Amino acid sequence: ESFNAAVADASALNAFIVTTPDHALAAADAVDARRAKGEDLGGMGGVPIGMKDLFCTDGVQTTAASHILEGFVPRYESTVSRKLWEAGAGMLGKLNLDQFAMGSSNETSYFSNVSSPWRKDGTNAAMSPGGSSGGSSAAVSARIAPAATGTDTGGSIRQPAAFTGIAGIKPTYGRCSRWGVVAFASSLDQAGPMARSVEDCAIMLEAMAGFDPKDATSLQMDVPAWEAGLDANLKGKRIGIPREYRMEGTDQAILDSWEQGKAWLRDAGAEIVDVSLPHTKYALPAYYIIAPAEASSNLARYDGVRYGLRDLPDGSGLQDMYAATREEGFGDEVKRRILIGTYVLSAGFYDAYYTQAQKIRALVAKDFEDAFASCDAILAPTTPTASFPLGDKSDDPLAMYLNDVFAVPASLAGLPAMSVPAMLNPEGLPLGLQIVGKPFDEQGVLNAGLAIQ
Ligand code: GLN
Repeated sequence: ESFNAAVADASALNAFIVTTPDHALAAADAVDARRAKGEDLGGMGGVPIGMKDLFCTDGVQTTAASHILEGFVPRYESTVSRKLWEAGAGMLGKLNLDQFAMGSSNETSYFSNVSSPWRKDGTNAAMSPGGSSGGSSAAVSARIAPAATGTDTGGSIRQPAAFTGIAGIKPTYGRCSRWGVVAFASSLDQAGPMARSVEDCAIMLEAMAGFDPKDATSLQMDVPAWEAGLDANLKGKRIGIPREYRMEGTDQAILDSWEQGKAWLRDAGAEIVDVSLPHTKYALPAYYIIAPAEASSNLARYDGVRYGLRDLPDGSGLQDMYAATREEGFGDEVKRRILIGTYVLSAGFYDAYYTQAQKIRALVAKDFEDAFASCDAILAPTTPTASFPLGDKSDDPLAMYLNDVFAVPASLAGLPAMSVPAMLNPEGLPLGLQIVGKPFDEQGVLNAGLAIQ
């Protein structure tokens, strides 16, 4: 009964593209059987989770929220989802997202936008759950699922977590296998957990992470016992406050939450120090060259032959089929990215755009390396504003891109970064704080998050 009620809630929010109750129930039965045999399953045993519809799931439609993949049923399981099932988790369904994970509001989905369960005090306008992992953030914050997978290329775990008052961590690039995850920008894409608490994120990330020979950029490192290592005592730790993140246009409430975050970390024993990340203002423009460049290459595979949709106009040939399928199958934002990407990669423009952006990427990474000489982790806001009403920014790509101004630098540098719920703004909407850590120091990030939540 309560499951049916949850599914009814889910349909009001449009969080799921498909629901898979049998998968979750079978997992629960299997866990009972394994426990009866004395197997000690960790914290994911029997937990029903939502799966962002960017992860290929064996026998279950996988769409990336795009018409071009509608009806595509993989015959294989992504490494991350396989590891979760092995840990005893089960799947409630495939969660809605921005099409191919391109977006910050969930409005680019072919299957219509997701609504946040949050409202501004005294109003009833439907708010954005953030994006691209907006189905995940909405489902977890509405208590429909205790946890969900997300992916983060330039903020897509952290920004939706911040918008909906939940926790989410993007681990160090390479921690979670990209195998079987629909590719957006391969040098940036990382999977991670979204859940109600830092503790739940630690438990779930442990199950998701680990070396995978099928992903050439997978880290050959053991997965630490993050849950056992949780410790909110930050004595001896230095937390850096990057001065370049004090940007014009940042809401006062966001700045207030940042001050509050510093105070909480100080209370937990940390020392707060000023740091500088001088190339911060170039990170967003560089991201919007690199990510579309990689996307234009990754999305070349949707040709009407291998996956999902095929549009073969009468009497037409192969080229016409490619064109018709891609015209019909991709949404506007996806087409915009492909056009930008092919442009910046084309002969004559490559050096002016793509090479320059790669240089900026290296400088942004170097900024963090220098800053980490004087601190253990960095505290910043996750987003420059709280959630906004659906429709408010959907006609203004640049305003939409600005959502990720604080999230993108850590992505370019491949660093672990987490958003934790901080407080509500004066309108009653959640605000998140972001912690960015040194490479491979998810533990430091989780511990600072624990001191804040
Ligand atoms: N909002 C950013 C974009 O549209 C980030 C998306 C993501 O992290 N998948 O590219």
